[in-house]
Amino acid sequence: MRWSQLFIPTLREDPADAEVPSHRLLLRAGYIRQLAAGIYSYLYLGQRSVLKISRIIREEMDRIGAQEFFLPAIHPAELWQESGRWDQLADTMFQFKDHGGRELCLGMTHEEVMTDIARGELRSYRQLPQIWYQIQTKFRDEARPKSGLMRLRQFIMKDSYSFDIDEAGLDASYKKHYDAYCRIFSRCGLDYQIVEAHSGAMGGSQSHEFMVVSDAGEDHIALCVKECGYAANLEKARSAVKPVQDLDGDHAPEEFSTPNIRTIEELVAFSKTGPEHMMKAVVYVAPAADKDKKDEVVLAFVRGDHQLSEAKLADALGGATVRSARPEEIQQTFGAAPGSIGPLGVKGVRILIDEAFRGRRNLISGANRDHHHIRYLTPEKDFTGAYHDLREVADGDPCVRCGRSLRVASAIEVGHIFKLGRRYAQAMGLRVLDRDGKEVTPIMGSYGIGVERILTAAIEQNHDQNGMCPPRAVAPFEVVLTPTNLKDDSIRQAAEQLYAELRQTGVEVLYDDRDERPGVKFKDADLIGIPLRITVGRKVGDGLVELSERSTGVRADAKIADVVTLVRSRYCG
Ligand code: ATP
Ligand code: MG
Repeated sequence: MRWSQLFIPTLREDPADAEVPSHRLLLRAGYIRQLAAGIYSYLYLGQRSVLKISRIIREEMDRIGAQEFFLPAIHPAELWQESGRWDQLADTMFQFKDHGGRELCLGMTHEEVMTDIARGELRSYRQLPQIWYQIQTKFRDEARPKSGLMRLRQFIMKDSYSFDIDEAGLDASYKKHYDAYCRIFSRCGLDYQIVEAHSGAMGGSQSHEFMVVSDAGEDHIALCVKECGYAANLEKARSAVKPVQDLDGDHAPEEFSTPNIRTIEELVAFSKTGPEHMMKAVVYVAPAADKDKKDEVVLAFVRGDHQLSEAKLADALGGATVRSARPEEIQQTFGAAPGSIGPLGVKGVRILIDEAFRGRRNLISGANRDHHHIRYLTPEKDFTGAYHDLREVADGDPCVRCGRSLRVASAIEVGHIFKLGRRYAQAMGLRVLDRDGKEVTPIMGSYGIGVERILTAAIEQNHDQNGMCPPRAVAPFEVVLTPTNLKDDSIRQAAEQLYAELRQTGVEVLYDDRDERPGVKFKDADLIGIPLRITVGRKVGDGLVELSERSTGVRADAKIADVVTLVRSRYCG
């Protein structure tokens, strides 16, 4: 394509409100323009990248035998009411009414629609397994759309769904996706991690996320530095605890006065005792399942130097959505203000204790009396509660698998694979006959990839002060051909000829035939991130052009006669 005829609106200045590099560069390089919060137009270069990514995904999905569908983006409310998600996801779903007053929504995912097709058509185990996928627009009214294409309200997802007769079948479908995802992200040139993921509100038994470590990421993952292979989303990650020497003494619990001491830091300074000996009380409320029942207050304990993980607490409570208790709820339940809460003498409240307290003794906690704490507390002896893994892994904690350090990093989730189980099939009445003619419920998997997230992650991982340098598979063109002076006949002719030859051999080439100074052309080419530049300049007289690699800055002369073969074999093979 000839640059002079294209619409590539590059910007000299950084846009004011772009928070992360990919956002800033996508705008500056003329890939995208914003229409509204979390809603963007993809211009020529952006769309080329999106299509290249989609093509890779499509090829790899087809390769595992997945069948491409294209489902509607508008769904009737009834379908989502059947699965129970109309209310559950109401906060993020675009819900609306048509002129006849019928309730509809914009699809944020497609388990319901896929299951609806399956229940209408699948009758026998002989028709299984099935893997159905689509590459389609999703709509989510995200609370905080931000960072350009990272968290959108309208985005493109590859979503697939597997239907199997039994667990072994699901394992096989899951493995196929796992492998396909590895190929997709490798082909897109991403440096990614596969982490164990929290199953969350969807239920289900096993799930992995594909993560790209980046400061721009909104997720947090724990990775073993020793490459024992342990990697997990922070919502799920577990760590070992370093052994702690308990405080000496064989005492009964003893109350002591702690005037105006509310935080662990204050208590540490006041009592001159390390936080690893303290039981930090965290009070949460699990809303009642039905309206007639009261919300349940629960009391959880983690060590003074640990943080509670809300996701783990929610899991420990059977997947309930929890919220922090309000000060007046704490006062009413325990008769003391937050900061003075402890386990001793508590009645009628569920107590959860982090695993790190197993076998510990002589601990310190609140006395359920303002300005007082208690020492010499020993679990099992002085109070009881249910042990759960409740603490969030912190950077440097020992790896649960090999004991070496865990690193906590920010990451971008680019894909997610998920064993759904039978939840949707059951709720929506998908049944087939098994080998013995008995009606059974198939088991499902659900698998997503964010197309824009791949582009964003590729730019976050590959950029410098001059612009972006995305991997070739993701870049809108493979080669930019840059004549330095079009008024020079020999330069123009050599460039025109190279352009024709590169195109003929299938190289994706952008021909910068603009009447601009070389400096302007080089700057723009660097900004939009074309992996290889062929500069046609004065050396054409010697039969030479210059090749320069965007990502490394490495430059070398090449003979004009060889350049097409060289480019094809070395750079665009
Ligand atoms: P997140 O935790 O980031 O909100 P999610 O768990 O809601 O993601 P899924 O429902 O599993 O995501 O969707 C599958 C994939 O779609 C994600 O792995 C991600 O790549 C992409 N995705 C999800 N939400 C968005 C969004 N708001 N904007 C862009 N891509 C998204
Ligand atoms: Mg989400």
